[in-house]
Amino acid sequence: MKEILVLCPHGVDGGLLSKAYALSEGNLRVLVLEGEEQTAEGYGAKYIHTIKTTPPDEAAFAGWLAEKIQSWGSTIVLAPATIAMRNIMPMLAWKLNAGLTADCTALDMAGEDLLQTRPAFGNSLMASIRSLSTIQMATVRPGTFRPVEQKANEPEIIPESGPAETGKVRELSFTEFAGGKPLSQADVIIAGGMGVGSKEGFEKLAKLASHLGAGLAASRSAVDAGYAPFRCQVGVTGVTVCPRLYIAVGISGAVQHLAGMSGSEKVIAINSDPKAPIFGYADYGYVGDWETIIDRLLHLEEETL
Ligand SMILES: Cc1cc2nc3c(=O)[nH]c(=O)nc-3n(C[C@H](O)[C@H](O)[C@H](O)COP(=O)(O)OP(=O)(O)OC[C@H]3O[C@@H](n4cnc5c(N)ncnc54)[C@H](O)[C@@H]3O)c2cc1C
Repeated sequence: MKEILVLCPHGVDGGLLSKAYALSEGNLRVLVLEGEEQTAEGYGAKYIHTIKTTPPDEAAFAGWLAEKIQSWGSTIVLAPATIAMRNIMPMLAWKLNAGLTADCTALDMAGEDLLQTRPAFGNSLMASIRSLSTIQMATVRPGTFRPVEQKANEPEIIPESGPAETGKVRELSFTEFAGGKPLSQADVIIAGGMGVGSKEGFEKLAKLASHLGAGLAASRSAVDAGYAPFRCQVGVTGVTVCPRLYIAVGISGAVQHLAGMSGSEKVIAINSDPKAPIFGYADYGYVGDWETIIDRLLHLEEETL
């Protein structure tokens, strides 16, 4: 099986490494920051290239990566679709004359070729894309694949010098996001939709989420209605998540929403309409008013505190 190279210069994406490990049958090469070798090793990487810091000049970094990739002979190159990698990967693709599919929601192999699936035509259908170039590249939304650790492989660790400082771009300051753990890393998610009906309703969901140590998510319609902030939006135009448990409250189950949460291990749907499409995807369903059951769960939680 072909080797797959995964670029994680802004932090290891365990889900993407796990998928690449499975697709390449263990033939995995990664680039990470110095200090993250052990994490990469935990996902079965054979070759781990390290750089001391992420170069601030993204164009220079793309040029350096292109030379390295040619010397490593990598023909499948993946990266998480972070803001920085969304900038770097197109420049890299241009330098390598490679086809690049952005924001994939699924990856597979068709013989030696990478099959890249992503929403297309206004998110109304899922397209499976095969690049005809020698090098095939894709970015994948963080949270798309669940991390699966592998037994240690005794990888070869190769420190790299990184590109020379160009002086054209300087990092002036760095502020950590204050919003806590990203939704894409939550183990349990409680998501509300239009059926929740108000901002106050979402406050109830947030209370239950905080009792359970869960993340709070929302459908796009609920975000548009002002019930929850945009960072909670799950789906093709929001974040992609793959928790162990996804509780969908008053969400109908539109295809654009499902695209962001269909990787969830178990789904519980709470909806007053027994014909709501979400029940077709749920492992467990409750037909009825969301508030009745959420109030009951909150009451049970408070009794046990
Ligand atoms: C280009 C494009 C991109 C999009 N991107 C996204 C995206 O990223 N994410 C996303 O979520 N959507 C997205 N959408 C919108 C999507 O098509 C749906 O409109 C949206 O997901 C519906 O949200 P909802 O399920 O909360 O609302 P609705 O479809 O209105 O469903 C509300 C549900 O609540 C139930 N309900 C009502 N009252 C109660 C009650 N008291 N108790 C229990 N259940 C109740 C109803 O039975 C219903 O099933 C996109 C649309 C387009 C065209």
